[in-house]
Amino acid sequence: MDKTSLCGFTVEEIFGIIQPGGFTRSHALKISHLIYKKGIRDLCSSSGLPRKLRDFLSQTSETGLYPPVSSVSSSDGTTKYIFRTPDTRQFETVLIPDKKRNTVCVSTQSGCRMGCSYCMTARYGYHGDLSAGEIVNQVISLNTEVNVTHVVFMGMGEPMDNLDNVLKACEILTSEWGVAIARRNITVSTVGITDAVVEFINRSDCNLTLSLYSPFPEEREKVIPAEKAFPARKTIAIMKDHPLQKKRRFSVAYIMIKGINDTDRHLTELIDLIKGSGIRVNLLPYHPVPGDNNISSPDDRMMYFKHNLIISGISASVRRSRGADINAACGLLAAGLRKV
Ligand code: SF4
Repeated sequence: MDKTSLCGFTVEEIFGIIQPGGFTRSHALKISHLIYKKGIRDLCSSSGLPRKLRDFLSQTSETGLYPPVSSVSSSDGTTKYIFRTPDTRQFETVLIPDKKRNTVCVSTQSGCRMGCSYCMTARYGYHGDLSAGEIVNQVISLNTEVNVTHVVFMGMGEPMDNLDNVLKACEILTSEWGVAIARRNITVSTVGITDAVVEFINRSDCNLTLSLYSPFPEEREKVIPAEKAFPARKTIAIMKDHPLQKKRRFSVAYIMIKGINDTDRHLTELIDLIKGSGIRVNLLPYHPVPGDNNISSPDDRMMYFKHNLIISGISASVRRSRGADINAACGLLAAGLRKV
């Protein structure tokens, strides 16, 4: 009999699995505690559960937790992990420790089908969605003593292209019975698949960020093909229309490329697009993919953008590059994966 993988199930679903064996909801809470808070891979050898329950679980279930197959660390403290599922889907996860926060950047798909030209994951191709359990496992199976405080869905894949699993992973990551990370510390990134964005906003309290690249649709479409069917301006209008709840943040990510999208014309249009919306702008350095001669905007140009956004009443930040030397930075994931 195939065993059920419990990671990826809510506490109520776990209760539904063990109830026929005569077990209670408080037993389900104990199981979810051991999986999601303690990262215990083998419940049958866990002394935290009664013998009868361990026997029941050994016949019906497994945790579904598994470690990465390899990892590599950057000189800046960032670590990139490679996971491989039994059916050989591969994906990468990045741990970014910082003074006050420890962020895990998770993948939602093995590869991606969005085809953004500045992204190595697009070149790797699409090899399948990740289940909610496979997404959550990336946060709890890193074999690190670090206490994860933040999760960003900015790894391989387009989260809105795998929405049900992403929503369920968000529920498990934020619930008290789950990993119990604050909702305001979880950010999901998208190129803006419109219907899914609306559903995400309505069904989740987590933060949402839109990859913008350019405020001009014709420029954006050349680099982010999804622009054609899902204009960024539509996603921004949805964000503007949706009343922001306390502590939830909408933002746009703006990768800055020297001489391409960092001109004064771009800045003026970006300000016009975002002004008065409450949407934050995160300015990101560009990490060139092989074969691209473009380079990132220099620091002073990024600071110039930030300054002008802020004096226009727009919240803005410049994000530091992390993990570029191990291909863990924005746009570089999957660079080291071979197709299997
Ligand atoms: S940038 Fe994101 S959405 Fe675009 S191809 Fe890469 S992983 Fe997919």
